[in-house]
Amino acid sequence: MNERKRAISQHIEREDNILGTGNDSANERLPEAGGPARILIVDDDVRMRESVRDLLSMHGHSCEMAAGARQALDLLARQVFDLVLLDINMPGMSGVDLLKELAAEHPDLSVIMVSGETSFENATRAMRLGAADFLRKPYSPADLLCSIDSVLHKRCLQQAVDAMNARLAISEQRHRFIIENSPDIIYMLDTAGRFTLVNERITQVLGYQRDEIVGRHFLELVPPEDQERIGYAFNERRTGKRATHELELRLVHKSSGFLTGPGQANTVPVELNAMGVYDEAKGDERSRFLGTYGVIRDISARKRSEAVINYQLYHDLLTGLPNRALFQDRLKQAISRARRDKNGFALMFLDMDRFKSINDSYGHLVGDALLQAVANIMRNHVRDSDTLARLGGDEFTLLLPEVAHVEDAVGIARKILDHLREPIEIEGHELYISFSIGIAVYPDHGTTGEDLIRHADTAMYHVKRRSRRGYAVYEPSMEVGHNGHPALESELRHALDEHRLEVMLQPQQYAATGRLAGAEALVRWHHPEKGLVLPCEFIPFAEESGLIVELGEWVLRETCRLISERIRGGECEGLVISVNVSARQVLQPEFAERVLEILDDYQVPGSRLELEITENMLMQDLEMATRQLKTLSRAGIRIAMDDFGTGYSSLSYLQTLPLDTLKIDRSFIAEIQSLNERHSIVTGMIAMARELGLDVVAEGVENEVQREFLKRAACPRIQGFLLGKAMPARQLLATYGH
Ligand code: C2E
Ligand code: MG
Ligand code: MG
Repeated sequence: MNERKRAISQHIEREDNILGTGNDSANERLPEAGGPARILIVDDDVRMRESVRDLLSMHGHSCEMAAGARQALDLLARQVFDLVLLDINMPGMSGVDLLKELAAEHPDLSVIMVSGETSFENATRAMRLGAADFLRKPYSPADLLCSIDSVLHKRCLQQAVDAMNARLAISEQRHRFIIENSPDIIYMLDTAGRFTLVNERITQVLGYQRDEIVGRHFLELVPPEDQERIGYAFNERRTGKRATHELELRLVHKSSGFLTGPGQANTVPVELNAMGVYDEAKGDERSRFLGTYGVIRDISARKRSEAVINYQLYHDLLTGLPNRALFQDRLKQAISRARRDKNGFALMFLDMDRFKSINDSYGHLVGDALLQAVANIMRNHVRDSDTLARLGGDEFTLLLPEVAHVEDAVGIARKILDHLREPIEIEGHELYISFSIGIAVYPDHGTTGEDLIRHADTAMYHVKRRSRRGYAVYEPSMEVGHNGHPALESELRHALDEHRLEVMLQPQQYAATGRLAGAEALVRWHHPEKGLVLPCEFIPFAEESGLIVELGEWVLRETCRLISERIRGGECEGLVISVNVSARQVLQPEFAERVLEILDDYQVPGSRLELEITENMLMQDLEMATRQLKTLSRAGIRIAMDDFGTGYSSLSYLQTLPLDTLKIDRSFIAEIQSLNERHSIVTGMIAMARELGLDVVAEGVENEVQREFLKRAACPRIQGFLLGKAMPARQLLATYGH
């Protein structure tokens, strides 16, 4: 193998390795120059043919012979040859005509023309028609062999070049394919920062056609506000680690036109990788720098999902309001601004009253829709600078950075309560809701976010404890226990364990005769520091924490113990003792069973006991409540509806539940101020109860006018401070001398 051939073969092998085309058809073995070739000798002179054949065979070539053009074409149709030795002057079809045909039909074939003529014209004509060489007869064997060798060598080189071109074409095609099908924009800039190359992807990402971009300066694609920030990243000159990696920037979309000046542009967020391109062959860096190669990735999908995630992290998905995290962030900002400006601001804690019962009775879908509706109502009545957030459940907070005075905050709380007074219609249900709002103001009620939230929360609980619906501004005296509710809860638990609770009895009498009819058991807490604590201070917390179940059971047990003691002592004959039970107790599946067990433990007949329930709780699970109460009713226990008239006062409950007694709330009794007045509500309630066959207790009777009025209205039983406050059992019996 000669040097040149070896070099070409090595080059081709290298290409193969790079392209992985080692087994391609393009890699056919090339005939070696100087090696055996397949040669066709075309001559009408038989001696000539044979002598040439003998000569060439001696030199290792394999030869076929043809006496004329026809025979030659026949052979060529059947066999493959590398070379044809063609005599020009033949009878019939001349060598030149055959050469023409060969050029058309067998373009890969090398042809050496042989002629006895010396005419220069014939020779050039043959060469123009594609002959590889021209030999004039007579020629020496050495001339022939040299010509053959040279033609085969040229042929070999040509084939090598063709093969390489084929490979280059494939390689070029592949590179083009890779660039065109890249999911990213690939570009090249010249040394002045103008695009010299960019792939098709730019059309999809930025809307421009490729030829609109080539020749333009890259800055025409970068919004002005980003131009300084991205510095020299886009037309990066550096390479390696110092080159631009994953730089985020925005590029102008075609829809906003090329940038001619500042303005709102429609942009696409992208990530850029770019590096300088250098010509290794040249001298100093300046002259070697060819431009920049860069890859631009469209990250708008990623940005969109980041935005969604961000939104989800900082918003409540049900109402679309900011969530606790965002609220706290805004609160932090408000504090630092107020500190800097020596200003104040207000914060509110808003809690929906009785949301749980709405949720439980109408289902979560209605509950969710209600929260959304409430969020919308409130959102419409706060300013853009305010932050209304949902902390979870039915708890909302409102940050009012521009409200520095308590009076203004109170005004806003009132306004919100007013707007929420109207019933809200959800899926055909008219829902009446109310809110308890606690207000804290910076810096008077706290200087940290934590303190402000806690104090607004304390004020909100204060409202709930008092009455529900309404607002309160934080005052230190609202704190129960030193650290707020958790402390209270654990204190109460200890009080329960350490018997620091006491059941006291408030007397009830028959209005007609004044005789003692029974008593209501009311729990009291003997607090080591605060003295006697009334139930309104701790029952709501016990309800919330669930401690009420344990506490309620203790009250029931203690009441039964008192009754059984007095029964044994013969003092309690005929008296019915009422015990308040909370919703959470009644909705315990084993509630009825537990009550009956306790009665059994103390040998107290069911007829001695009345259980007071409140209406709001019934809505939570009317079916369960009815089931439990029916079981108890069958055991002779009386069931009373407490605080009647303050809740939903639905007549259907009165018919569904196994009720014995209605307790008219003291707010109605408080309105009775003279005997002459027509107190239609109270008289109406008494009449209705009679109609339904229910007993009635009027609560909160504080004076003789009220007692007389109720007596005339034929109210069966009365209870109130006029008769006596809740007192220890012993004292009750001593006073009433049973
Ligand atoms: P309630 O069941 O409506 O009890 C009547 C409340 O009205 C008692 O308040 C009583 O002291 C008060 N009261 C009675 N007569 C008058 C009066 O003439 N004028 C005025 N202004 N008030 C009067 P107390 O003992 O503070 O209890 C408050 C509430 O705490 C009770 O309201 C009841 O709902 C709840 N509660 C008390 N003990 C228990 C208990 O053992 N378990 C449960 N679950 N709740 C209890
Ligand atoms: Mg009661
Ligand atoms: Mg009551």
